[in-house]
Amino acid sequence: MSEYKEMWREMGIDLEAHDSLLRVLGSAYKDIYLRQQNRPKGMEYFDFVVRELHGFRVKELMEAREQGRKVIGTFCVFVPEELVIAVNAIAVGLCAGADIASDAAEQYVPRNTCSLIKSAFGFKLAKVCPYIEATDLIVGENTCDGKKKAFEQYKDVVDDLYVMDLPQMKSEVGRHLLKAEYKRFARKLEEITGNKITTESLNRGIKIVNAKRKAINRLDSLRAASLLPISGLDSLLTNQVFFYDDPERFTASVNAICDELEERIANKEGVCPENTPRIIVSGCPMAVPNWKLPHVIETSGAIIVGEEMCTGVRGTRNNVNEDASTLEEMFDSITDRYFKIDCAVFTPNTDRLNHVKEMVKEYKADGVIHYGLQFCQPYAHEAMNMERLLEAEDIPVLSVETDYSQEDLGQLKTRVEAFVERLQD
Ligand code: SF4
Ligand code: SF4
Repeated sequence: MSEYKEMWREMGIDLEAHDSLLRVLGSAYKDIYLRQQNRPKGMEYFDFVVRELHGFRVKELMEAREQGRKVIGTFCVFVPEELVIAVNAIAVGLCAGADIASDAAEQYVPRNTCSLIKSAFGFKLAKVCPYIEATDLIVGENTCDGKKKAFEQYKDVVDDLYVMDLPQMKSEVGRHLLKAEYKRFARKLEEITGNKITTESLNRGIKIVNAKRKAINRLDSLRAASLLPISGLDSLLTNQVFFYDDPERFTASVNAICDELEERIANKEGVCPENTPRIIVSGCPMAVPNWKLPHVIETSGAIIVGEEMCTGVRGTRNNVNEDASTLEEMFDSITDRYFKIDCAVFTPNTDRLNHVKEMVKEYKADGVIHYGLQFCQPYAHEAMNMERLLEAEDIPVLSVETDYSQEDLGQLKTRVEAFVERLQD
């Protein structure tokens, strides 16, 4: 990675802190990912992406900027990448998945703020994220109260912040608000790029992002096989890379893995024995490099068959209708697709609970682990509803609340192991 040092220095990265972050990340990846047995060969591409996490892709972004393209950083799956592509800009998800500079972050947000929000501040304040430094605009949103208030402070630490005004109810008024917000966002994108959104450019954006989602949906559907062809950890990684890789390259790489997984299924080749307890993980998103709970689950005798989260099917299911011919109709189609996202900030949000039940059936899961980040109110409330609903249907459920630290690892492992034993009985 030394070939990128000059680029990082020019971006204002703190090279010493950054070196130690990459060392920790590299060794975690080795322990968690590379020790897995019988991984699909196609995962080599994703190993390369992680190895080059702050190198190759960042260089691509910087080269694109030199050619006049803009880079848009996002934190939420409500930001339509279709619109970003339509102005010839590039969307990158800003990970916020590691405990970085929490003390510095706590100068801006209260101590009892979820790890994800603190991490967004930490990465910026510690100057260790080249993606943040490569952005021309960062998009925040008023989803949960934590984010809503945190973005009031975040605007002071980044150069240009746009806060999306998102609805909280799945009503006609809510849909109207979402469409109006997407039009406002489109105007902002046009303003910073100098490019007008046309029917052709938006149609192209819709097709590229639909293709990316179709590829990852294809991969997810293969996990319904009795003999699982890919681990939950590897599937999660593809979902995480979804947010920052070049979209067309990503689609091709995921489709290549799917071809391989189909062969594995046909040859009855799996990553674990057929009687391994199958788990759906549901809850808060897991941004790179947050692999803590999946690693605990998959080293405790179980396997993850689906993720009901924004780094999973909640973020990628449903596509934008491609039949629209006018810009107005395209905005309607985009709004209709994104309005279906069943994030816990909506009230009520019964779709999400029903979806988890459907996933249990579809993926032949034996149980559900609800994952909540400490201090996350929306998902903590829904965890209680989910426990009630699933228990009433005799679906075993375990609700865990954790953060990005490693302090509760032992306790987490004990609880997950006990749950897996229960599933084996
Ligand atoms: S959980 Fe909600 S706020 Fe968080 S990324 Fe998903 S949609 Fe956005
Ligand atoms: S994890 Fe919860 S509290 Fe944290 S940003 Fe997401 S919705 Fe908000």
